[in-house]
Amino acid sequence: MRLESVDVLVVGGGPAGVAAAVSAKGRSPDARVALVSSEPTHYMRPAVTALIEDPSLGEDQITSFDPVKLLEFGVEPFTRAKVLEVDSDGARARGPWGEVAFEFSSLVLATGGKPFVPPVEGAGLDGVTSVRTIREARRLASKISPGIRLVVVGAGLAGVKLALASHSRGADVTIVEMKNVLWTVLDPPLSDLAGQIVRGAGVKVIEGRAVERILGENGRVSGVEAGGARVEADLVIFATGVRPNSRLAEEMGLELGVRGAVRTDERMATSREGVWAAGDCAETIDLVTGKRTYRPIGSLAYLGGRIAGVNSVGGRARYAGFIRRQAEDVKGIHLASLGLTGAEASALGVPHEPVELKPSRGPPSLPWWLHRSAGRALALVEKGTDRLIGFQALGLPLSRRKSYAIVRLIATRASVSELELLGYSPS
Ligand SMILES: Cc1cc2nc3c(=O)[nH]c(=O)nc-3n(C[C@H](O)[C@H](O)[C@H](O)COP(=O)(O)OP(=O)(O)OC[C@H]3O[C@@H](n4cnc5c(N)ncnc54)[C@H](O)[C@@H]3O)c2cc1C
Repeated sequence: MRLESVDVLVVGGGPAGVAAAVSAKGRSPDARVALVSSEPTHYMRPAVTALIEDPSLGEDQITSFDPVKLLEFGVEPFTRAKVLEVDSDGARARGPWGEVAFEFSSLVLATGGKPFVPPVEGAGLDGVTSVRTIREARRLASKISPGIRLVVVGAGLAGVKLALASHSRGADVTIVEMKNVLWTVLDPPLSDLAGQIVRGAGVKVIEGRAVERILGENGRVSGVEAGGARVEADLVIFATGVRPNSRLAEEMGLELGVRGAVRTDERMATSREGVWAAGDCAETIDLVTGKRTYRPIGSLAYLGGRIAGVNSVGGRARYAGFIRRQAEDVKGIHLASLGLTGAEASALGVPHEPVELKPSRGPPSLPWWLHRSAGRALALVEKGTDRLIGFQALGLPLSRRKSYAIVRLIATRASVSELELLGYSPS
């Protein structure tokens, strides 16, 4: 077996792994840094939705960091390869070139997440799927055609984006959600407005009902049953969240924490010296509460990866906590969710209340049939104090600078009234 002796071995080539490898090399140019990645290229997962919408996109249009670029940074990529096991002597990986043993001084685990599919009857039928990789996205995109009846289970951001993308290709789409549309990022009344927008775009929505059973005929899906309702389906996509892919860490005997994610501290250090973890496989610390949490989003994967990478070569990077910042344009509709949502605040034990905001500036970005109701913004405030802990806006443009300014207000324990300076008055 070929033996490679490296300073840093990074496992996983998503945003956390790439950020870790590049940061390690940047801080310590003489270090030998290897990145083992099971996929052929490195990309951001919004490319998955982009491919469903436009299957003709080429690799160059979805790749954010190709292996050649990594080589230019001095990182050695081992693509289409999998680290099978890690023990006290090193790691064993298998790829197109056979097996390789790695000796390393530091290890960064960036193995990402895996789709969570609730244990419902029929989830194993043909035509029932979840999607995370580009390969899976291409396969799914080839099955979407005009008139196909598609059920998307889960109305988080990924589910809503998959539903809208499939609808734009002529699919007859129904979302089934046990809570309400976009509840993962928006609180009522914004989530109600989100439901109206998604329905108005032509996607059917069943809210407040959990899928109990997937129905099938001859081994193939034929529909879903949710709270007594029955929806016919040729395809079912589960977009019901992710769980950490912490198998390697568990086998190594590392401590696991929230939702089984790899336990990490403010340096992204795991319970074993010389082993770091970042991204969807690991916990992070929430800045508002100082508590550990599990937040599988790309921006935090990238930030965590940078910290792990710097520390893997002897750096002293630390963070006090992360604040979630999701601000995007979903099919022309601006959506922003910063800091804690009501659901997150409850999970972290923070008493909170919503405060509707009156936006004083900026034209709304809503479809014509919703113009009269205009966009809405909401602050989440810690109960008993007027501390701003979260901010949400839908249908209102929010510049990058403004969103970072609001994140700063949350980080510095500012009062909700300080939002007035940014054009939002608490009503
Ligand atoms: C459809 C979809 C849309 C999304 N959209 C957004 C968005 O718009 N904005 C946002 O912030 N976040 C988004 N996310 C979430 C975001 O993509 C993740 O938070 C981010 O990719 C996590 O990065 P990561 O590096 O931790 O893991 P991943 O991106 O999952 O990468 C981990 C990689 O490691 C590989 N791997 C695992 N085990 C091994 C092993 N043993 N050996 C070698 N390789 C291994 C995996 O195959 C994978 O390629 C989306 C997710 C999905 C599924």
